[in-house]
Amino acid sequence: MKNVNSEELLLSKKQLEIILKNMADAVIAQDVTGKLIFANNAAAKLLGYNGVAEMLAAPSMEYLKKYEFRDEHGQLFDSAKMPGRRAIFGEKEAQVLLQVTNRKTGQVAWVNIISTAIFNKDNKPTMVINTMQDLTDRKLAEQEKSDFLSMTSHELKTPLTSLTLFLALLRSKFSNPEKKQKYYLNRINEQVQKLIELTNDLLDVSRIETGKLRLKKEKFSLDELIMKSIEEIQPTTTKHTIRIHFETKEYVFGDVYRISQVVVNLLMNAIKYSPAGGEIDVIIERNNGEVVVKVRDKGLGIKKSQQEKIFSRLYQGDDPKSRTYPGLGLGLYISKEIIERNKGRIWVKSEEGKGSTFYFALPVFK
Ligand code: ADP
Repeated sequence: MKNVNSEELLLSKKQLEIILKNMADAVIAQDVTGKLIFANNAAAKLLGYNGVAEMLAAPSMEYLKKYEFRDEHGQLFDSAKMPGRRAIFGEKEAQVLLQVTNRKTGQVAWVNIISTAIFNKDNKPTMVINTMQDLTDRKLAEQEKSDFLSMTSHELKTPLTSLTLFLALLRSKFSNPEKKQKYYLNRINEQVQKLIELTNDLLDVSRIETGKLRLKKEKFSLDELIMKSIEEIQPTTTKHTIRIHFETKEYVFGDVYRISQVVVNLLMNAIKYSPAGGEIDVIIERNNGEVVVKVRDKGLGIKKSQQEKIFSRLYQGDDPKSRTYPGLGLGLYISKEIIERNKGRIWVKSEEGKGSTFYFALPVFK
């Protein structure tokens, strides 16, 4: 091994100190008892000290008195679960996002803390390095975006409801419409229904983001729910045949309305993304205490690289072919949230050009 002389060591220590001192993220190092041994300027500023010297001179753990910590859901955060402590016990890259309130001023900041412990050659922890990113601005921007989404979707709902009512009135006035009148009325109706679906999706996303998606859980038959969903969707297409295979006679415990929303969404996607038509198979099986539902199409399929991403918000395939299909890329994001909130799992297997199978599994009701 190369011998590092003390001058080189001192130089690299100085370099490191300069980098740490002036970096935008706050960095603090603590020994295993929690005593502060290093802090940079950003850390002193973030934790409300006039400088690094004042921070280092302050009593150990003073921050616990100065600030109140809450998790992302607003629950009080147990300081024993701080990532620094978890890192000492061997967790690599321990991390947490906290809402930090200054008890005196009431000022709130969002801070992401990442902790890494340093172990000696006997594998004993010697110190913890904590990096803290101030995410307050980003969180506030996200909040503004969710507020806007919530307001817009609610505002859209009212005129849409009256449009639906007036449309029904108009239809009843034409008891015997001419061919053209009928055609126009049907087109208006289709477009209004599309607007309602989009608005409902936006409302759901807003509910998910604000933690307000409430579920009404009960015991129900998944077979029945799927039969009903197929009955609802089959008349919307003449090119596709939806077939059902195997009935499990199993019951699950969950929100019927929301789970049928998932089934309808998967069926509508299977139709939408198999433009040439064909069979869509719905298979229900029992497997290891779960009921697994598969919705299989022989349509466009999804590239491997996109299969994970399609469940995230606003994600739409980047394939120019699938971009030509209308939608906001919200359906699968909402479906994933619904299934997971009902203690289930959702995933996809697909081959480009051959078709896709969407799966979801829910625990069997015992
Ligand atoms: P949207 O259909 O409005 O774009 P979704 O969240 O339902 O939103 O789907 C996200 C993306 O996943 C779609 O844009 C499409 O690229 C892909 N996708 C979903 N279902 C299928 C399917 N059955 N076959 C092929 N691609 C699909």
